[in-house]
Amino acid sequence: MQDSPNRDLIGQPGGRDRLQTPCLVLDLDAAEANIACMAAHAQAAGIGLRPHAKAHKSVALARRQLDAGATGICVATVGEAEALAAGGIGGLLLTSPVAGTAKLRRLAELARSGHAVMATVDHPDAVAGLSAAMTGGAMAGASAPLTLLVDMDVGQHRTGVPDADTALDLARAIADAAGLAFGGIQAYAGHVQHIAGLAERRAAMERPWALIQAVRQRLAGAGLAPAIVTGAGTGTHALDAGAGLFTEMQTGSYVFTDVQYDAVVLREAAATPFRPSLFVACSVVSTHQEGFVTTDGGLKRFATDGPAPRPMRNAPAGAGFRFSGDEFGALLLNGARPPARGTVIECQVPHCDPTVDLYDWYHVVRGDVLVEIWPVEGRGAI
Ligand code: PLP
Ligand code: MN
Repeated sequence: MQDSPNRDLIGQPGGRDRLQTPCLVLDLDAAEANIACMAAHAQAAGIGLRPHAKAHKSVALARRQLDAGATGICVATVGEAEALAAGGIGGLLLTSPVAGTAKLRRLAELARSGHAVMATVDHPDAVAGLSAAMTGGAMAGASAPLTLLVDMDVGQHRTGVPDADTALDLARAIADAAGLAFGGIQAYAGHVQHIAGLAERRAAMERPWALIQAVRQRLAGAGLAPAIVTGAGTGTHALDAGAGLFTEMQTGSYVFTDVQYDAVVLREAAATPFRPSLFVACSVVSTHQEGFVTTDGGLKRFATDGPAPRPMRNAPAGAGFRFSGDEFGALLLNGARPPARGTVIECQVPHCDPTVDLYDWYHVVRGDVLVEIWPVEGRGAI
């Protein structure tokens, strides 16, 4: 991994606008405000918060979330769990089901080495595999059990078991397995997070909430009341916090927000006020064209599943963005005067999670000062 070429700018006034680009910029004042905002929201609602690190993959940001009162940190891959555990982050919950003996073994090894980690499952094979990995070998019986949650499919149709009967069967299998403990359920409604309109998202949560309620009752009736009921993303956090069904939320994107979330969810009057904190800085590299200038931030520098990057800092008012190939972007002037070659323009990222995974370093700024450079420890960690 190449070091950032920007280290000598740390601490220099105006360094933010002289960064070598393209690079990832984190506005720490905004990120800290977002972390405090979600923490206060959860606290006021009397619900736990285990923020998802799939977006930031960063020990420093996870540490700040824990310092703000989070119960723990969610991760999407075993590799992210390993990376954050190595950085001293505890209370980890792996929210993706794991398949394959080798990876189940890595997860069990992490748990057996004393790291505080829980995981989710949606199939008895994973329960059997994890039980074997937790109890085999010379150290058999030496560690605390690995706590597992049953992953529910509440409508996204991606992972999870579909109904209360299957959930109960799996919960029983966990409770009966050596080396494992049943901890509760996960019910993340990913399909609802980006629906425009609070009323529309509320309506779309009715079915997931009814299923969660049914599963809770079914499990409790069988003596397996779920201690943890986790779910909620940034788009539904205000709704889920008041639903009376969850014990904790696993919101992730709120630390940064992105163009995708800002467009549909965070502009609503009732929205919790999160501020954009994550940008890709790119430089104007060519100015020969009519109506736009060319920057050095193209398809390799932004996730491209969402809307276009939004030009912000140092961009002319009203500017737009169009991709112009692998290495280049077109900053659309919309009648404004073209910025000079070398101008460092920051664009809000279209979709935060897959954009962060394109970078090795956060360039952490406060105001116009580059204050630190942090590694993205979980980048590419599978
Ligand atoms: N939980 C799971 C399982 C997810 O996949 C995600 C994001 O995709 C989150 C939580 C966080 O949601 P958001 O980024 O919308 O806050
Ligand atoms: Mn996402």
